[in-house]
Amino acid sequence: MTESPPAGRDLLEAVHSPEHVDRIERLAQRGGGSIDMETIVSEGSWVAACHAAGGAAALVDALMEGAAPTGASLHRPPGHHADATRAMGFCLFNNVAIAARHALDAHGLDRVLVFDWDVHHGNGTNDVFAEAPEVLFCSMHEWPLYPGTGPASDVGHGAGEGYTVNIPLQGQSGDPTWCSVVEHVVAPLAREFAPQLVLVSAGFDAHAEEQLATMIVSDAGFATMAGTVRRLGAELEVPVGVVLEGGYALDALARCVVGTLEVLTAAEPPPPPDLAVHPLAAEARERLA
Ligand SMILES: [Zn+2]
Repeated sequence: MTESPPAGRDLLEAVHSPEHVDRIERLAQRGGGSIDMETIVSEGSWVAACHAAGGAAALVDALMEGAAPTGASLHRPPGHHADATRAMGFCLFNNVAIAARHALDAHGLDRVLVFDWDVHHGNGTNDVFAEAPEVLFCSMHEWPLYPGTGPASDVGHGAGEGYTVNIPLQGQSGDPTWCSVVEHVVAPLAREFAPQLVLVSAGFDAHAEEQLATMIVSDAGFATMAGTVRRLGAELEVPVGVVLEGGYALDALARCVVGTLEVLTAAEPPPPPDLAVHPLAAEARERLA
């Protein structure tokens, strides 16, 4: 456990416009204010947001330097809704996008997987890398739900076409759906892409106790999903970094973060789950084949 350094401007501006970065800094300096209905900046938000972005980048540094095969950056505010020019959905800077960009730019990687299991679509990350074939962005999310983006038909564009994978799921889905999609859809796609680094936008708001969404994933479900990701990293012999996103039922959040860290730091990855291919996973697999 280490304290993370705040991100410098260069890290932030590798993803965000200088105007966006200035806007957040000035708003915090003035004592804060509302950006939209959900997104509030306080006096301390600039420093917090710089640490959240810096923590995600420091996680990449530690993983790429071989400090450990797996790691986590556990900061707030979350990041995956923030795009290049806009804060939204509690997110000021896109921490996981900054981390992925840092892995490409500073560590010379050619292929990074960003897997977003937050219950909301990671629209910011989606848009930042929409034209980037070097980042496979894969999001599973409740549909319909905030922010309303992320249909299956959004597959990226230009050179990035096919490197954005959106898997919208019906509300009220639980472990059989979520775990099957991760095991039977996301993991095979990831194997094919052969990333040199796996980053997880890990929100825990698909949990049954969460009030902001209707999914019913359990503690064990999140541990199973973490296990699939851990096994993927081990198989591909690449590091796995988890970046905290949403999760607002605080007891469930705490339990699931601990459960995820236990899976990531166990001596061995868990064996594959004995899991039926869910019809939604089968459908997604067919669509994406
Ligand atoms: Zn969320």
